[in-house]
Amino acid sequence: MLTVADIIRIIEDHAPPELAVPRDPIGLQCGSGQWEIKKLMIALDADHRTISQAAYAGAGMLVAHHPLIYEPLASIDPESSVGRAVAHSLENKVAVYCAHTNLDAARNGMNNALAVLLGVAGRTVMASSSPERFKITVFVPENSLGEVRTAAFEAGAGKIGAYTRCSFTSYGTGTFMGSEGTDPAAGNPGSFEEVSELRFEVIANRHVVDGVIDAIRGVHPYEEPAIDIYSLHSTGTDEGIGIIGSLPEKTTVGKLANTLIDLLGAGAVTIIGDESRKVQRVAICSGSGASLIGIASASGTDVYLTGDMKYHDARQAGELDLAVIDFGHFAPERYGMKEFGKTLNMALRNTGADIEMLYAEEEDPFKVITRT
Ligand SMILES: [Zn+2]
Repeated sequence: MLTVADIIRIIEDHAPPELAVPRDPIGLQCGSGQWEIKKLMIALDADHRTISQAAYAGAGMLVAHHPLIYEPLASIDPESSVGRAVAHSLENKVAVYCAHTNLDAARNGMNNALAVLLGVAGRTVMASSSPERFKITVFVPENSLGEVRTAAFEAGAGKIGAYTRCSFTSYGTGTFMGSEGTDPAAGNPGSFEEVSELRFEVIANRHVVDGVIDAIRGVHPYEEPAIDIYSLHSTGTDEGIGIIGSLPEKTTVGKLANTLIDLLGAGAVTIIGDESRKVQRVAICSGSGASLIGIASASGTDVYLTGDMKYHDARQAGELDLAVIDFGHFAPERYGMKEFGKTLNMALRNTGADIEMLYAEEEDPFKVITRT
């Protein structure tokens, strides 16, 4: 049986919280990490409609993309939209967890799902998220290395790109002298000791550092283990908002628009630029990506796929001679969440846990009307 906290750890392996843009209210918004979960529901929006669906289906956890609580609440009024959803969540024991811009920026996140759907190759990110990473170094006697290393890995350290359990160990000599009242693992209090030690070093993202330190301390044989934590300078990453790459073959803006309508089940898309324009290099940013128009244009993109374009955004794209397909906000992100649900389902199964995965029924709030 997994708890909400166990499931959050698995989600954050795929969508590390430090990838989120500042002040994005991601994370567990309602409920307790200790609740045990048998059924889990995936949704695009966390609101009273999806929380009700989860409660009705007996799901103890709702994992959504758009946060339920965007601004700190000064009070909880069950007559308000958010207050009603919060009350509903707590009354029905439906924990609400939101992975928002951290999932957008994740290596296998929202935009990657869309890029894979379109067969986009040579993928790079539009705006790198440069997550904070640390190097943890601990000095350990040789016979305790295995235990310390396993504890660090199990607490989330040692992940570099698609590799896990990465670390380095070197030999050296440690010295110490315990004062009266100490109980050294080697030698006696008051005597100067020289012992063979290993220097074990491992990398960790910010959100797991405290847990890794606790795990190492928990198994380290010394009373006072020497643990150093270094902040690392970021050297660029394949994690970030938006993806740029090449479609498998040249097409036109019009044909690509139709492909998107078919693949995403979108009611319609909006085009900025010439429908017959030939395109192959594409930039993708799900959600509201107008702020990245300049990056899309400067990177030699033929066409930019994003949502929530406003009138003046369209004018700016036109001036930059950048074709844009506004594929809306709902359809691409609903698709991204369904793909994330599959990834999460597989990761949960790998733990041996039997958790049923459900998907909320949601509708695009926008309806397209064409003249009949
Ligand atoms: Zn969104």
